[in-house]
Amino acid sequence: MLETAYLEDLNAAQREAVTHGVTIDGRFDADPLLVIAGAGSGKTQALSHRAAHLILSGVDPRRILLLTFSRRAADEMSRRANGVVEAAMAARGRKGQGVTLTWAGTFHAMGARLLREHAEQLGLDSQFSILDRGDAADLLDVCRQSLDLGRGKTRFPRKDTCLGIYSQVVNRRDTLAAVLAARYPWCENHHDALKQLFAAYTERKLAQSALDYDDLLLFWAMMLESAELAEQVAGRFDHVLVDEYQDTNLLQAAILKRICPEGRGLCVVGDDAQAIYGFRAAEVANILGFANDYPGCRTVTLAQNYRSTNAILDAANALIGEATAGYKKDLFGTRGAGAMPRHVTVRDSVDEARYVVDRALERRETGVELKQQAVLFRNAHHANDVEIELIRRDIPFRKYGGLKFLEAAHVKDLLALLRLAENPRNEIAAHRVFQLVPGIGPGTARKTFEHLQAQNDSLTALETFRPGRGDRDAWQVLAGQLADAADSAWPGGIEPLARWYKTTLDERFEPPTTARAGDIDDLVRMAGQHADRAAFLTDLTLDPPSATGDHNDDADLDEDYLVLSTVHSAKGREWDSVYLLHVADGTFPSEYSADSDAALDEERRLMYVAFTRAKNALEVVSPLRYYVTEQHRHGDRHVYGATSRFLTPAVMQHFEAVTDGTVPAGGPQSGVAAGPRIDLAAGARALWQ
Ligand code: ATP
Ligand code: MG
Repeated sequence: MLETAYLEDLNAAQREAVTHGVTIDGRFDADPLLVIAGAGSGKTQALSHRAAHLILSGVDPRRILLLTFSRRAADEMSRRANGVVEAAMAARGRKGQGVTLTWAGTFHAMGARLLREHAEQLGLDSQFSILDRGDAADLLDVCRQSLDLGRGKTRFPRKDTCLGIYSQVVNRRDTLAAVLAARYPWCENHHDALKQLFAAYTERKLAQSALDYDDLLLFWAMMLESAELAEQVAGRFDHVLVDEYQDTNLLQAAILKRICPEGRGLCVVGDDAQAIYGFRAAEVANILGFANDYPGCRTVTLAQNYRSTNAILDAANALIGEATAGYKKDLFGTRGAGAMPRHVTVRDSVDEARYVVDRALERRETGVELKQQAVLFRNAHHANDVEIELIRRDIPFRKYGGLKFLEAAHVKDLLALLRLAENPRNEIAAHRVFQLVPGIGPGTARKTFEHLQAQNDSLTALETFRPGRGDRDAWQVLAGQLADAADSAWPGGIEPLARWYKTTLDERFEPPTTARAGDIDDLVRMAGQHADRAAFLTDLTLDPPSATGDHNDDADLDEDYLVLSTVHSAKGREWDSVYLLHVADGTFPSEYSADSDAALDEERRLMYVAFTRAKNALEVVSPLRYYVTEQHRHGDRHVYGATSRFLTPAVMQHFEAVTDGTVPAGGPQSGVAAGPRIDLAAGARALWQ
């Protein structure tokens, strides 16, 4: 007899989702299952309980594929599932050994793993490297240069735009022409050149045994087009569980369809009102059309919200109620009335930072740890002043979704060293590494790479090479280290490389370099925990630590810190108190969305995601004066702004309006400058008249 106390903690609908298709005698006849429900209704909870329930009913945990949107989410769900299993085992008087969901992670990470395992059948090098977005964009640029594109009169799209276009074509399974017409009309005249560029880029990647993020899904989907391989992969899993299904794209839906053609054992959960990745080719049609794509599908909706107080839910419901698409989910709260959310008007972003930090500390005094509080924002740089304020006051914080660990120059440097040691054909890594030597610029780096190719990719041959005006001694040390690292058994070789690199830190960066050196030490430590170089690099490239300084979780478990996060990275998470920064037209909604209703709706859903992260306290802050970055137009600009167009009277009636500090009376409401206007130019000229 199963010990099923954990089912008692769930409501009836959740229980249905958890037990669907599982018969008492441990047999499974699971029709496809869709759980579609609003924020905080316990979808993720139901999914991790389902995993636990399956395991307790006899399913081998290795035969469950759990797909989430981040590694953090996968870890958290595995942890929860394990907790449920252990408790149930203990109740049965048996000591559980602890279960691990071995196949839990993002689509990209799981794809990479399957591709490596089946590499031989696919004609891939099982040691393929993975290019992160930055490297992919750089490689595109190298291709563009060698094709000599972009010399025409009209400006060629920038490398990040090129990568964006490429990525949309792949993930939408669409043609270049269609993607350009729908999303990049200003690039349509470059259609043929882009096609040529993407063809060259593809060749280059193949020649270098390098896959970009999109390839991981594309190749996975292509592999499943072979009926035989599809059967092999499908045969490994009895159950496929997917969280945040509203943010999957067509390629991901196609992959699922190949693994579970009839949807047997497939369970997806999500919320169409929280679809926020349309700009990256996610297709909300996946979730809305699921019942059509999988006839016989069982649909479960969850109506109770367990996360937020009614006051917060009312504000969130009012906000999403104004979307052009109707989201019919009347969530009812279970947590009582609660305090009214606050809309706080401040003078500028400096006051905003001071206000938010003060409030967070005040709350801490009342017993809400900093960890239980989050500062959320639309774009990473909106938090700059908050970061400065926290550093000034010596308050620890962690930032998610901003400049990622992998984007930090020193991290990229060390990884490039390792990638080159692993794969001497990795051009982007080579360019980066060679330029670490004083005196070597892009031209010499390119020549050096050509030399390396001419020498059959032998790193040893580099030691005798004379790289132009590059510092001879430094060059020889580096070349020697590279060759050694390539030869030594993992993780040998990485330490000397790191040591060599650390000696260059002071020259490359403004001091202080201690934090950078700390990151390098951490990388070395993390390397030691991986079985081989490829595993380490894959893990790091696909699931990097969220931020620099975020990779020693064990060391400072006791430390209390404030969470800073983009709204995108806050998906699925929850905190006692949430402060949303910079809620003003031009920043939230972002000014790039102003021209399209679809984009505006996505911004509104994003704000809905932000509101619904809060359990007990929600504060929305609008500075009257803020920067809008308009790089593509005229550089940065200081504007006196209106508050966000999303904060309509219908929404605002659920907020207490608060003014903090010295805000000009009757502050401006629509893009009009406040206070006196001073014409400095006229004043300056007048001096000489
Ligand atoms: P989101 O859409 O934001 O991802 P969700 O639907 O996945 O939200 P969960 O994160 O699973 O919601 O749950 C929200 C909160 O409610 C969590 O703190 C969870 O522990 C709690 N919760 C879920 N189900 C129940 C329940 N039946 N009884 C009490 N609390 C619950
Ligand atoms: Mg969730």
